[in-house]
Order: sequence, then structure tokens, then C-alpha cells
Amino acid sequence: MTQVFINGATDAANVREHDSLDASIQELIRAAAEARNYAYCPYSNFAVGAAIRTSDGSIYTGCNIENGAYAASICAERTAAVKALSEGKRQFVACAVVAQQDNGFTTPCGVCRQFLAEFASNGRDIALYAAKPTNLPLRVLCTSVLQLLPNGFSFSSSK
Ligand SMILES: [Zn+2]
Repeated sequence: MTQVFINGATDAANVREHDSLDASIQELIRAAAEARNYAYCPYSNFAVGAAIRTSDGSIYTGCNIENGAYAASICAERTAAVKALSEGKRQFVACAVVAQQDNGFTTPCGVCRQFLAEFASNGRDIALYAAKPTNLPLRVLCTSVLQLLPNGFSFSSSK
């Protein structure tokens, strides 16, 4: 079995062939790849696309949008999430992230993991698929938001 690089860790068990995934997952990855074409990333030149499926079956897409004031930039995952949330969709079922790195998959940054985990509450995890736009045969890292962010911050009011 080929070893696969995932942000410094090796994990071949969660990598699957794209064509073996459900059609709905392939559709989500395709949507993320299309959204990647709209990335505004003149500073990093690192384009990312994301797509989130909500519980009603809708797909919301996003790309990374950078800014000359770097801290004002937003990632593709949060762009997709805020589009869904601002239309009243809070139940996220799955998220796909597409970017091109020669070695390994692009998974959400720490801020996005925390942001998405907010909507993985009540025991509902969010499936997460990381893929590349090219490099056939296409392989996909299949994980989840809570796998990527175990023991993340959660706010519980004592009121
Ligand atoms: Zn991020």
C-alpha cells in the first residue's frame, strides 16, 4: 500500500479512489473544483475550492479570497459555510476541499476546523473529503471535521 502524506502524517487507510465514492460525494468534489476556479489569491497563488452539502441536499460553494491586508483573507471552507449559514442552513452533512499540492492533501486550516466544528454539534459529525483537481487517477482523503479537530473548543453557557 502506498504511503500518503497528510500534513506530515502518513495515513493510507482513509484514502480512496475517486471513482469508488458515492455519486453524491463525487458531485460535491466537482462543485469544490469548480469553485476553485473563482479563487482570488494574487498573494499566495494557492487556489482552494470548497463545497458544503447541507441536510436538505443543497450544495454551497466557496473559494479562498485574499486581501492585501493579509489578515482580512478568508478560506474557501468558511466562504462556503457563511453562504449556507446566511441562507438559514445550519446542518452540514459533508464538505469537500480541492487544492493542488504535489505532496499530500489540503485539509482545512485550524480556524476552519473550529468554524465547521461549531456545526458538527449534538454528535453529528461532518464528513470531509480532500481532493486534488488533477493528478489522475484521482484519489481522495476521506475524513471528518471531528477527526481533524478532536477536543476542539466549545462554548457552554453557565447561565
Ligand atoms: Zn481555513
